[in-house]
Amino acid sequence: MKIFIATKNHNKLKELERILKPMGFEVLSENDLSEPLPEVDETGSSYEENALLKACSGLEVTGITSVADDSGLSVDCLDGAPGIYSARYSGAGATYSSNNEKLLAALDGVPMEKRGATFVSAVACVFPDGRKFTVRGECRGYVAEKCSGSGGFGYDPLFVCEAGCYAELTPEEKDRVSHRGKALRKFKDELQKYINGGEL
Ligand code: IMP
Repeated sequence: MKIFIATKNHNKLKELERILKPMGFEVLSENDLSEPLPEVDETGSSYEENALLKACSGLEVTGITSVADDSGLSVDCLDGAPGIYSARYSGAGATYSSNNEKLLAALDGVPMEKRGATFVSAVACVFPDGRKFTVRGECRGYVAEKCSGSGGFGYDPLFVCEAGCYAELTPEEKDRVSHRGKALRKFKDELQKYINGGEL
């Protein structure tokens, strides 16, 4: 089955492709389009709403079943921030490193036992006939006091889960435990219910 991954984030695309391809999907992305994918205003008030906005935009452009992820890191002692605003936590022109610096500053002096956090990924799927669904994956961990590792992207150097710091895990290890890996495995199960005969 062909699906379009509606994202402009190359790191996310890499993760979505490497999880979805072995599941049997023929994966298309912005790289297969003749024009860039439009930017989507993330005006939703939840991960699910924003994921649906992105997936709907993908469907509008391509006409094929489209999938999008909206994700972020929710820190307990920051009342869930940066949450759905994770990408632009440090303001306009935010980079992964400026976001990490801001997060470290926000948690300055906070002891380890109060640095708990949850990585969340909502994956939305929209079909050409108007049907749609969302699934969610979460990974619990904490925010370290300094960056480590060289893998991954975004907050990976600061987020430590049971398996270790996301940025120190191999891609396969991250996919096994990550919020996105969990969401995409649920996505595959949910999708089977929508497909005649269960064929991908
Ligand atoms: P959005 O879903 O495009 O709004 O952005 C999600 C933001 O959350 C990214 O820009 C990253 O900063 C962060 N994020 C999402 N998933 C991950 C991940 O797997 N590792 C590290 N950071 C992530």
